[in-house]
Amino acid sequence: AAGSGVSEAELEAGRRAYELDRKHVFHSWSAQEQIKPMTVIRAEGSYVWDGEGNRLLDFSSQLVNTNIGHQHPKVVAAIQEQAGKLCTIAPQFANDARSEAARLVAELTPGELDKVFFTNGGADAVEHAIRMARLHTGRYKVLSAYRSYHGGTALAVNVTGDPRRIANDYGNAGTVHFHAPFLYRSQFHAATEAEETQRALEHLETTIQLEGADRFAAIILESIPGTAGIMVPPPGYLQGVRELATKYGMMFIADEVMAGFGRSGKWFAIDHFDVVPDLLTFAKGVNSGYVPLGGVAISPEIYATFADRPYPGGLTYSGHPLACAAAVATINAMREERMVEHAADLGETVFGPGLAELAAKHSSIGEVRGVGAFWAIELVKNQQTREPMAAYGGSSPAMNELIAACKSRGLLPFANFNRIHVVPPLNISAEDARAGLAILDEALEATDRHVES
Ligand code: PLP
Repeated sequence: AAGSGVSEAELEAGRRAYELDRKHVFHSWSAQEQIKPMTVIRAEGSYVWDGEGNRLLDFSSQLVNTNIGHQHPKVVAAIQEQAGKLCTIAPQFANDARSEAARLVAELTPGELDKVFFTNGGADAVEHAIRMARLHTGRYKVLSAYRSYHGGTALAVNVTGDPRRIANDYGNAGTVHFHAPFLYRSQFHAATEAEETQRALEHLETTIQLEGADRFAAIILESIPGTAGIMVPPPGYLQGVRELATKYGMMFIADEVMAGFGRSGKWFAIDHFDVVPDLLTFAKGVNSGYVPLGGVAISPEIYATFADRPYPGGLTYSGHPLACAAAVATINAMREERMVEHAADLGETVFGPGLAELAAKHSSIGEVRGVGAFWAIELVKNQQTREPMAAYGGSSPAMNELIAACKSRGLLPFANFNRIHVVPPLNISAEDARAGLAILDEALEATDRHVES
């Protein structure tokens, strides 16, 4: 530990943190007595240090959040400066940090999404986007995709498509789920992307008609589904969704909480498809999670609904000055340091070719897919049957072994069911990105032994 520059005092603080955590902290999405949370005693750039003083390369960005890496000095300084000026102010007051953050979000989001409602994170952004769509259209039902994640609060988890929704199912919140395109596990028996796109759009339109063509307030979709497996939509799909939303008078909500703010190599993932939604939700990358912040960018039509009629919703911390100061500093740093361009370049020159090489070599890899600094490795027991290495919603000894093998070699991975997501900070160096892939290459040798012949 001494060699890694971690002091005995830090290690002692880490031991105490773990002890108190196990005594008093109740963790999300976990069986409390079965977890052993990793202690993090410090972080910098693309690295974190664990409770034993080991340095690990953060290929997770802490739930795909710290797009600018840990402890970016410009953002830390901006938070400190704002804390010295004004730590909190209620949402009904105008404030320089909030105004500037809103201006920057309006400038970066596509089309005329020029009004911004701030929230504290992604789930409440989703809740408010749906509420706005319902009030604007006077309709109730909401369409969302089965392989999706939209948050852990009541309505956000109900529109979520992954199995965590089922444990939170308290009745019909008006949500209707459908299958979005995913060629590797096609629900439509499609052989090509074009076929998958066409059949997925036909399936969506049939669902709308069978569920009530004039009943839907909104369709919510992650522009590139993240937690569910980074399935980049095939060409034409999001344009088709946009057309169906317009045809049936519903709002198109693009959920950019994970994919937004440079993760995909463009400011927003929807920018890859030349589509403008009616509402766009964001959080995470807007300020790299340094202080909780999320929000909804709103079209002029929806804004007009609330021009002379009160919007019935709000949050005490909406547009918190420390969070907004962090957002302004984050966005400016991303621009100055060309992080979005760097993420696009990493996708083309390091992750794309590097992961394709791993896929060619390892029998446990079913598919690799992604763009920018947003990639998934899908692990299977059998490349022909495509049986997942862990069930959807579950874990397995093979996946646990893979995670441990990565950590013991100095890599902190993002694992989800049968997948490893490669989602480091956008400003990771090409050298560190390659080093991370080399660790994955070694660690995957153990996973290959779980492949059934
Ligand atoms: N929407 C998407 C696409 C997400 O990926 C997430 C979180 O991962 C959320 C919403 C929920 O965000 P939060 O955890 O900040 O509430």
